[in-house]
Amino acid sequence: MNKLKSIDQEYVLQTYNRNYINFISGKNATLKDEYKRKYIDFTSGIGVVSVGHGNRQVAKKIYTQVSNITHISNLYLIEPQALLAKELSSHFGYKYHSFFANSGAEANEGAIKIARKYGEVNGKTKRYKIITLDNSFHGRTITALKATAQVSMHNYFGPFPDGFEYAKNIDDIYNKIDSKTIAVMIELIQGEGGVELQNIKAVQKLAKFLKSKDILLIIDEVQTGVYRTGEFLASNIYNIKPDIITLAKGLGGGIPIGVVMSKNKKALVAGEHGSTFGGNFLSTRASLEVLKILQQLYTSKQLNKTVKYFENNLEEIALKYKDIFIKRVGFGLMQGLRLRDSSISTQIIESAFEQQLLILKAGRGTIRFLPPLTITKTEIDLGFKKLKKALKNI
Ligand code: PLP
Repeated sequence: MNKLKSIDQEYVLQTYNRNYINFISGKNATLKDEYKRKYIDFTSGIGVVSVGHGNRQVAKKIYTQVSNITHISNLYLIEPQALLAKELSSHFGYKYHSFFANSGAEANEGAIKIARKYGEVNGKTKRYKIITLDNSFHGRTITALKATAQVSMHNYFGPFPDGFEYAKNIDDIYNKIDSKTIAVMIELIQGEGGVELQNIKAVQKLAKFLKSKDILLIIDEVQTGVYRTGEFLASNIYNIKPDIITLAKGLGGGIPIGVVMSKNKKALVAGEHGSTFGGNFLSTRASLEVLKILQQLYTSKQLNKTVKYFENNLEEIALKYKDIFIKRVGFGLMQGLRLRDSSISTQIIESAFEQQLLILKAGRGTIRFLPPLTITKTEIDLGFKKLKKALKNI
């Protein structure tokens, strides 16, 4: 392990404050390290491993797929890509057209390109401005980073593309709109920004207003999407029909995939966008199986039971440790505990780690919980037992 650590530190760009635990296997929400110590995972790789670690059902599909064909390029038909696009669209009750990428940032890049094109071809003068929210997070590529209104992340990397403006909150968006505005891009629940929910009525009012002005509404569901909130999309909870939706994280259950979905069939046409790997046999086959598992979890109401049970446990912690936490925040299995003193977040995460429990940090002084959607009651019980022990040491 020490040898691996030194190799990592010598050869990998040190862009993360990495914890050098060496996990070697996992089953659902339980991970095992090289010494066979077990950990409860309340992070699912930051909302990615939606169907749990070591999911055999997905692994079998991947194995069969890659034993036959892994990649052929988007110049040819890719059966699971077409089926996945249909499957995603069928979740809405009206048609969405998908472009497949490899990550959340890339999916958002696609959304921005769609909006910019729409602003060029519709209207007398080009509209190109995109409004995003303070504390947002849309990814690390140059344009997605510019869309991310956490300016401390922008250091060193300018000049950035023009045409992004930041609003303080939903109500402030109206103040930022002008004749050049083509889109508003928001997360309905800001994940990195502290599991912060937007007000439902305010979002619905905004959606209506934008429609009346022919301004596109882009909802970044990279973290909230694919049942993370207990519904297929957070947009379902908000009862809105965005013009453009982006997904990534949980969609592939750990296989890299991102997708931008547009209501407009002509949003992008041949030659206007592309990706070597996006939508290949491997990622789309895996995603089809992930969706199958999650849909079953949803329709059987098991997901709803898990959400309630997890939420109740967290609520209990928030009440018991009032001196540490202000309140519980979040929706579904995207949850957080807001700290009174944000400076102790690392101490809490380390204390939990000592108890062999993985939890996350987020903005606004929040401890974040993103367990696999398939987590069992036994795993939840064990995780919260560990969390209580960890908090006793704070
Ligand atoms: N958008 C949101 C809401 C996210 O939470 C993230 C990642 O945390 C991204 C975009 C970027 O996704 P990726 O890291 O896959 O590029």
